[in-house]
Amino acid sequence: MTSEVHKLVIIGSGPAGWTAAIYAARANLGPVAYIGVPKQDPGPVLPGGQLMLTTEVENFPGFPHGITGPKLMEECQAQAERFGTKVIGEDIVSCEFANDASGRTPHVLNTSTGQRVLAHAVIIASGAVANWIGLDNEMRLAMSGGGVSACAVCDGALPAFRNQILAVVGGGDTAMEEATYLTKFGSTVYVIHRRDTLRASKIMQQRFLSRPNAKVLWNKAVVDVLGEKVIEAVMLEDAITKERSRLDVKGLFIAIGHTPATKFLKSTGIEFDEAGYINLRQRNSYTNIPGVFAAGDVSDAHYRQAVTAAGMGCQAALDAERWLAANGID
Ligand code: NAP
Repeated sequence: MTSEVHKLVIIGSGPAGWTAAIYAARANLGPVAYIGVPKQDPGPVLPGGQLMLTTEVENFPGFPHGITGPKLMEECQAQAERFGTKVIGEDIVSCEFANDASGRTPHVLNTSTGQRVLAHAVIIASGAVANWIGLDNEMRLAMSGGGVSACAVCDGALPAFRNQILAVVGGGDTAMEEATYLTKFGSTVYVIHRRDTLRASKIMQQRFLSRPNAKVLWNKAVVDVLGEKVIEAVMLEDAITKERSRLDVKGLFIAIGHTPATKFLKSTGIEFDEAGYINLRQRNSYTNIPGVFAAGDVSDAHYRQAVTAAGMGCQAALDAERWLAANGID
């Protein structure tokens, strides 16, 4: 085991993680950021988080003409590194938190390469990953590259989808964003939604619905995905009549929300809410474990915006700094 005890380790590299790193580095906490490795889980998970899977970000203040998600994350990382954040491209796979009301640390974090990392304070900013419907054939064709994906922005421009009939499942902003993006490539893009009202914001709805090749199928659930090597069709079930119908498509994009990335926190004693997000004390980033803080989508089922995640990262760094000082660790 390494004997060096870091003042602060940050787990995650989205807007929350990088903002925490920028603040902590400027406060001379010498933060070490574990940014993870690219993987399929079961969809793509990248260092930088969900913004790595998006195109234009138009609502992050300071960029009046927008900025791409990957570029925004690249700039955040550069800013964190400029002030001395140490960046490590490994996953934290499990944690042994010093769950002691006295605040006695260090916490132990185990990495994907078998290292044991010691830290007095930890900020969890591991974000969230895309949800899947959970159909066998959906996963089979997603894993084999057979035309099923949870990221239109990653996969939508592939030649297999050009001038083809495509479908997006979901009725939120992500579904609208992905579907709008796909209208550039597909001949027709269907949004398949399980209700008769979209959850998405009006502006995002409008952006999609104004495209000539946009269509919405209301009150429909995807109950099977058909095709041997590549997708040929989806089987739909009407939510009201229960009638089944086949829709031929050459690409299916799942956009039905996200799940917080917390597998590595199992059995640590950290508290979650009923939806599986880390429970925070009101208006700060403290978890139930002394010296362990959380920020961003892993602890926010409600807002889930890049800018709110960044704000939470700032809060977590300030909370960690004050907690370290209060515990005589400086
Ligand atoms: P979301 O708002 O939770 O929407 C998920 C959608 O998927 C809902 O329409 C939901 O249906 C549907 N759904 C959930 N489970 C399903 C299932 N098993 N089968 C079929 N449909 C299912 O998630 P999101 O769209 O990913 O957005 C998350 C947050 O990010 C939101 O706050 C959103 O505003 C934000 N966001 C913003 C932007 C932007 O501004 N550029 C872009 C993307 C996301 P119901 O409506 O029936 O529940």
